[in-house]
Amino acid sequence: MIRSLLSPQECADCKLCCSFDSSDIWEAPVIDGEKARLITSRYKEDQQFIDRGTHCVLKMEKQEDSDLYYCTMLDHAKGCIMGSEKPFDCKIWPFRIMELNGMRVITLSPVCPIVNTRPIEQIKKTCGEIADTVFAEAEKHPEYVKPYIDGYPIIAAESR
Ligand code: SF4
Repeated sequence: MIRSLLSPQECADCKLCCSFDSSDIWEAPVIDGEKARLITSRYKEDQQFIDRGTHCVLKMEKQEDSDLYYCTMLDHAKGCIMGSEKPFDCKIWPFRIMELNGMRVITLSPVCPIVNTRPIEQIKKTCGEIADTVFAEAEKHPEYVKPYIDGYPIIAAESR
């Protein structure tokens, strides 16, 4: 979560980006080996992971009464238990790093209800401040980069 756009309280009250349904479970944060070890050693000893080839994701249980999966790192009262150690995908939320026609782009999630109330100038300014870091991380971790999805507004494109 980007604090210059979203406050911790707003995110704690919302939690939308920490829950998934069958259609958006692909948004579950990418977990690399180092993060997986951190999770089992510090946060949840019995956490299981689903192998996605280049990375893994947290194994989450579907709710009995709905098509909903809550992230296992979510404390429903306090928000994410991982604090500043949360996965990269979560750190840059509501931005997403995607690839479109061979070019990396930073997009804005259309589902975050809070960021959609912010002025576009503020969103662009914040994106500009983090873009170099996001693209550098994407270079080091290609598994962070998701295929572009129609409808995701592009806020920045990498120049290379
Ligand atoms: S790791 Fe934390 S911020 Fe990321 S989806 Fe799970 S609860 Fe939310």
